[in-house]
Amino acid sequence: MASDRPGLSAGAAAPAELRARLEAAGVHTLLVQFADVHGSAKGKLVPLAHLGQVLQEGAGFAGPSIWGTALPRTGPRSEYYARGDASTAQALPWWPGVARIVGDGHVAGQPFDACPRQVLHRARARLADRGWHVQLGIEPEFFLLRRASDGRWLPADDHDRLAKPSYDLQSLPRRASFLHALHAALAGCGLDVLQLDHEDAHGQYEVNFAHAEALASCDALMLFKLAAQALAEREGMVFSMMPKPFAGQPGSGMHFHVSLWEGGRCLFDGAGADGLAPLARGFVAGVLAHAPALCALAAPTVNSYKRLAARNSITGTTWAPATIAHGPNNRTALVRTLPGRFEWRLPDASANPYLAAAALVAAGLDGIDRALDPGPATEDDLFELEAAERARRGLAALPRTLDAALDALAADDVVCAALGPTLAAEFLRLKRAECADYACHVGAWELERYVTAF
Ligand code: GLU
Ligand code: MG
Repeated sequence: MASDRPGLSAGAAAPAELRARLEAAGVHTLLVQFADVHGSAKGKLVPLAHLGQVLQEGAGFAGPSIWGTALPRTGPRSEYYARGDASTAQALPWWPGVARIVGDGHVAGQPFDACPRQVLHRARARLADRGWHVQLGIEPEFFLLRRASDGRWLPADDHDRLAKPSYDLQSLPRRASFLHALHAALAGCGLDVLQLDHEDAHGQYEVNFAHAEALASCDALMLFKLAAQALAEREGMVFSMMPKPFAGQPGSGMHFHVSLWEGGRCLFDGAGADGLAPLARGFVAGVLAHAPALCALAAPTVNSYKRLAARNSITGTTWAPATIAHGPNNRTALVRTLPGRFEWRLPDASANPYLAAAALVAAGLDGIDRALDPGPATEDDLFELEAAERARRGLAALPRTLDAALDALAADDVVCAALGPTLAAEFLRLKRAECADYACHVGAWELERYVTAF
């Protein structure tokens, strides 16, 4: 339950000390890394000799070349600087001589409002004004794939074929060298890796590491993506955070375990009769009330809705939520409540963690401030409950498409305000274009179904 950044002391070390620490670790180059609006890692290599500049001004990038910045091509605002956060500097075990340092977006010398990490800084500042912080345990599920000679994407392991593949101990040992290397890489960066397992689809795995303060958790998730991608490639596999690569199988969620803290005291401890502490009631109510808009950020691709919409899979279930509800240890609900925390089951592996976390905080604070009611806890298996019965109980469904989720986001002032006007507009513009592109696409399913049907 560490609240500090994993493996690192809080606060920026003085450059000389930091440089000496990195040199002692054999580092000669910095990987200055930031996340674009899609949550993809971006950056450049900078010799360690320029650490001072990375910390003071930042590494420079052409702003319009980065998704989601909406920066102009010319003039002082065309330059995007990723200013290194010294507390994140960490030698990368799988890339000798290189240390990652996470950058905060700056433009014209000021924090850049549309940088996803800056968006999360603003959400954390709102919490800090009340003496609070949020801890997140982010649980990435992912696929290890290969591309067949005919272009099809397949699980990397041809023998990974169990009818119910969760916790498969036949396939897991065949991936041992990758999983051990991943564990070693993350542990070497100070993350407390809790477990690694085979998930419920062929070629699907999950890694869990200890929860931490929201920013540290999001930075850790980006580190995980960097490590998993590099290490999978070394073994001839493709690491994928696509939410739903195989229609008949479960998709990849990226659940967030959420708790609210005041210093060392968890404010979600001490449940009332409905299983929720007073502040957890309000927070969860806000997350449910804003669920349609949050969907756009937590499930941000057209493919995401194939994970959320599907009721069944070859394994018997998908474990992905479809109903806006909460319940004690209820994995069929959007919010699964647990002692001292809740699990937000909406996010999938394609979500930008910084944006999803910031939107989550905005929704939760709105629920607390307006004393919203989360409604009764449900213990039912919501995958089995008939639509009419769900409607009778007032349990709404999540948006069924990205377009519908974007409509909800555009109409949600609380979530848009958390993103800020530049990023909200740019996110909506890019994602509307993605929907329009998809709408014009004719896929294999349609051809099979309609070519000879009429
Ligand atoms: N893969 C499921 C999802 O898409 C989650 C499975 C689990 O509960 O771990 O959310
Ligand atoms: Mg899982």
